[in-house]
Amino acid sequence: MIKINEIFYSIQGETSYSGLATVFVRTTGCPLRCIYCDTKYSYVEGELMSANEIISKIATYHTKFVCITGGEPLAQKEVLFLMSELCQLGYLVSLETSGAKSIEKVSDGVKVILDVKTPDSGEGQSFLMDNLKWAKPSTEFKFVICSQKDFEWSEGFCRQYDLFKKYSVLYSPSYEQLSSRWLAEKILEKKSSARLQLQLQKYIWSPDTRGV
Ligand code: SF4
Repeated sequence: MIKINEIFYSIQGETSYSGLATVFVRTTGCPLRCIYCDTKYSYVEGELMSANEIISKIATYHTKFVCITGGEPLAQKEVLFLMSELCQLGYLVSLETSGAKSIEKVSDGVKVILDVKTPDSGEGQSFLMDNLKWAKPSTEFKFVICSQKDFEWSEGFCRQYDLFKKYSVLYSPSYEQLSSRWLAEKILEKKSSARLQLQLQKYIWSPDTRGV
């Protein structure tokens, strides 16, 4: 059984699947406490569901895109089985993970979005370095940038581990801390190879921008 916080249908706002109608499966629980976390409600709330029940619910939405998110999905071992089953059924599965848990046993067909927590996230020591070994060419590395210090640190990390050459690297501004313009200018100024990623869902559904 897997403790599930919510299952919902929306537009994917991040990653290379951005803009696609997707079913989101949000698992309950996370070992981290990032200062910008916008899903604190997923830390404990949820109900137990079997993999079959989750798959049946997903099937009602009639899309092939499924995003497993959290919380931290890999905090529950059964999520590995769920993702493997979904891949076998022909779904295009993405996994959003904090980087603090091993991705070694994630099915080959799953696109992994691997967060690397920056120093100003408050969880800067949490990245499991072995995950660099398990990353596949399809893995996307994501950095949520909270400050100039985070930007410099992320650039250093990507260069030290050759991420720009091997993978897609996404930089997102921490939504209430940095403007997207500031980060865009930094990427240009430093000739960074990172892709600026805006959280599309926040622009679509925010009361300030609704209908824009
Ligand atoms: S890893 Fe994600 S869910 Fe966990 S505290 Fe950080 S932002 Fe929140």
